[in-house]
Amino acid sequence: MRQVAVVTGGSRGIGRACALGLARAGMDVVVNYHENQERALEVVDTIHSYGVRAIAVQADVSRSGQVKRLFEETAQAFGTIDVLINNAGISDSTLGMMISDQQMERSIDTNLKGCMYCCKQAALLMVRNKRGKIINLSSVSAFKGLTGQSLYSATKGAVNAYTKVLAKELARFNIQVNAVAPGFIETDMVSALPAAKQEEYLKLIPARAFGKPEDVANLVCFLSSGKADYITGQVMLVDGGLEIG
Ligand code: NAP
Repeated sequence: MRQVAVVTGGSRGIGRACALGLARAGMDVVVNYHENQERALEVVDTIHSYGVRAIAVQADVSRSGQVKRLFEETAQAFGTIDVLINNAGISDSTLGMMISDQQMERSIDTNLKGCMYCCKQAALLMVRNKRGKIINLSSVSAFKGLTGQSLYSATKGAVNAYTKVLAKELARFNIQVNAVAPGFIETDMVSALPAAKQEEYLKLIPARAFGKPEDVANLVCFLSSGKADYITGQVMLVDGGLEIG
């Protein structure tokens, strides 16, 4: 039986690379997206060319009702879930004292609550199967103080703390929960930053380059595989040395 993976925010960037990597590893994949149906369907088409199954499911991860539906549709289409990649996320670059209530709500609802809603739904299914892998996308920003990133850092720091406790709670059910914390990766999220800001960040990275989505997906795929059965509760950086720089 092929394994089944759900990738939130699988239409673009790191999520797309994870979805394609898991499909190449032989998994059926649910490609969740928020607004970009066309991009999600392109990912689904590419996955089909690898000879495995895939569907695109629209759902806003910040809404618990929509997350419930995402997992119901997954169960209907594929019968189970073995791997969850909590990748959907947003970055809001604003000085801490200028952040509006609305910005706070949007980032916390998407990055933290979205991750928690998905983990809850996946765990309820995985506990019955007595196996599963959950990988949450965190960020180097949870470790390193970057001006303008306080809200984003707070959400990702919370994801790290949540990952560790969930890993402890689910270990007895043979479910491993880890987080992957990228540095600056060449996606729409980073290209949306002003050029001057990108130059400034580049100088902070010992590797002197931004990463590629595949650099992150390689680790995500490893943690999703049987080779990582004894790894749980960890937060692993993929950042070209930014955190130590
Ligand atoms: P991206 O290129 O901006 O793509 C974001 C993805 O998330 C898209 O697929 C988008 O769907 C989806 N998404 C956004 N809000 C959503 C919502 N409410 N519900 C469902 N899906 C939603 O992002 P990325 O750079 O690949 O980042 C992916 C993850 O890695 C994020 O959690 C991010 O915080 C983390 N990360 C990224 C970097 C980096 O340098 N790129 C660094 C550290 C951490 P649509 O296409 O439908 O809009």
